[in-house]
Amino acid sequence: MTGYKINEVFESIQGEGAFTGVPSIFIRLQGCPVGCSWCDTKHTWAVDPDKQATVSQVMSEKGDSDSWFNALVSDLLTLFNQQSYNAKHVILTGGEPCMYDLQDLTDGLIEAGYSVQIETSGTFAVKANSQCWITLSPKINMQGGYEVLDEVLKLANEIKHPVAMDKHIEELDVLLERHQHPHNALIYLQPISQQKRATELAVKTCIARNWRLSLQTHKFIGIE
Ligand code: SF4
Repeated sequence: MTGYKINEVFESIQGEGAFTGVPSIFIRLQGCPVGCSWCDTKHTWAVDPDKQATVSQVMSEKGDSDSWFNALVSDLLTLFNQQSYNAKHVILTGGEPCMYDLQDLTDGLIEAGYSVQIETSGTFAVKANSQCWITLSPKINMQGGYEVLDEVLKLANEIKHPVAMDKHIEELDVLLERHQHPHNALIYLQPISQQKRATELAVKTCIARNWRLSLQTHKFIGIE
């Protein structure tokens, strides 16, 4: 069985994309080499062996931390019970969750009756149960030098693209053209950091292209 390095587990409401408003259990995996300058989870980038902690230490931490615990899917299901979580939707996020082979984890969660969503940058192959909902937030030309993979674009159920400037729309156009994206993937534009100009650009472009707008609603109401 595969062990996973977990930065945090919490229950909240999905604030973004197609599952906005759905009560969800978030599992944040530790580790990401993609290097987005505006990343709001930089504490998940490094997997420092000295930062390994117990599940109870990690669960009792408040705020962003770079510590992590190691868990099997059975450990996580036990944790869900201990925490009395009600949500039936699990979101695997990061960091970059697809650095890990997610097959054991997603099989186990789906067998236990959960729906599973994976939030990925598209720079690693997705190794997971085929019933997972894949949310691709393509990270293009970031400092880590990783490419968005064709195979992840083909798998994506939704493509959620962070935008602040015209060049971000142009990058998405090039990506979709190059990879001939499947027409059944929903396309969302998400203004970066709720900036006014970014929001105006996203609204204008969504109307012109018949794409969808994704707002980070959890940030407006002050929840994680
Ligand atoms: S892919 Fe996600 S976690 Fe990694 S640097 Fe970019 S925004 Fe941050």
